[in-house]
Amino acid sequence: MKGTFPIEKWGNITTPFYFYDTTLLKNTLEAIKKETDKYNFTQHYAIKANANPRILKLIASYGFGADCVSGGEVRAAIEAGFSADKVVFAGVGKADWEINLALDADIFCFNVESLAELYIINELAIAKNKIARVEFRVNPNVDAHTHAKITTGLSENKFGINLSQISSVIKEAKTLSNIEVVGLHFHIGSQITDMSAFKDLCIKANELQDSLEKEGFTFPNMNFGGGLGIDYHHPNHINIPDFENYFAVFNKLVERRGGQNIHFELGRAVVGQCGNLISRVLYVKEGEVKRFAILDAGFTELIRPAMYDAYHRIENLSSNLAEKEYDVVGPICESSDVFGKEVMLNEVKRGDIIALRSAGAYGEVMSSQYNLRNLPNSYFSEDFE
Ligand SMILES: *Cc1c(COP(=O)(O)O)cnc(C)c1O
Repeated sequence: MKGTFPIEKWGNITTPFYFYDTTLLKNTLEAIKKETDKYNFTQHYAIKANANPRILKLIASYGFGADCVSGGEVRAAIEAGFSADKVVFAGVGKADWEINLALDADIFCFNVESLAELYIINELAIAKNKIARVEFRVNPNVDAHTHAKITTGLSENKFGINLSQISSVIKEAKTLSNIEVVGLHFHIGSQITDMSAFKDLCIKANELQDSLEKEGFTFPNMNFGGGLGIDYHHPNHINIPDFENYFAVFNKLVERRGGQNIHFELGRAVVGQCGNLISRVLYVKEGEVKRFAILDAGFTELIRPAMYDAYHRIENLSSNLAEKEYDVVGPICESSDVFGKEVMLNEVKRGDIIALRSAGAYGEVMSSQYNLRNLPNSYFSEDFE
């Protein structure tokens, strides 16, 4: 089964472009809202997954918070209408100007990843006569069973503060005049489809909280990050992730203290399925051992296959001819510019419209001008209704 797209209305639009299904995005946001409201959880959308201003505005309108990893994202969140008191700011390398911007905006909290960073936040807060609220990002040494390039919660990764060091860091924080410790933060990786990783996370977080409480530290907030994966193989069947099960795991396993707020930072699961990269076929090249479908889109528009060996379902929206096998490639002068090998597609002709599905997360936002190409435009389903 192929997805349905209004291709008859795309006549003269320059390809490649991103096409977002507004209805699917809204349905996804409703599903998240329903589950988080059930348990009084707080969701902060991870802006780095897709920072398209129209998408940010829509997500902000549902009352969600924002998870930012740069000053630019903090600014974009506030411009899009996210309330500053629901903005959190993570990242191992926050520059001084980014910290200052977040202090000026009075964001909810910094998710602090090292003692070195904590000292700088304190200094900059003193200079502004402000109190900086911080959560400590803990590296819980949980294996997310995902691709090595998107695992973040192992001791060998650069992210967070190791379990063995967290107590002394909090002790030190309590001595700093302009720091208020408001919680603990975890984020173990991305495209996680094995719930056992999240179960391990809950258990580690409970143990840590118990042991830190024995030292007299309490936490009004616990933030479990994001990471829930999507089904890249079945975008037409399973296009809304199983949020019910995901949030139920945390509700069941987290030993929530009275009055404690529980936060999440989903990115990919929010926007992944609503986006598609649309391109046209430039040439079909019959090689000696391979048949290539050469597209006008390349890794400059969607880098996930080149960067993470990621799979995206590819569909020929223009053809119902019998299927043939193609290596689907882009025009960029790099051998890694391949979207898929040995892909079965309805027979391809020059000018056919090809959809790369499930490209809403880490797609448009990672596009570049390498080879001096133009950045892709974006359109929404509602633009064609
Ligand atoms: C990237 C990131 C997220 C979102 O991850 P997804 O896999 O897109 O859900 C959440 N929190 C932090 C700190 C991140 O860096």
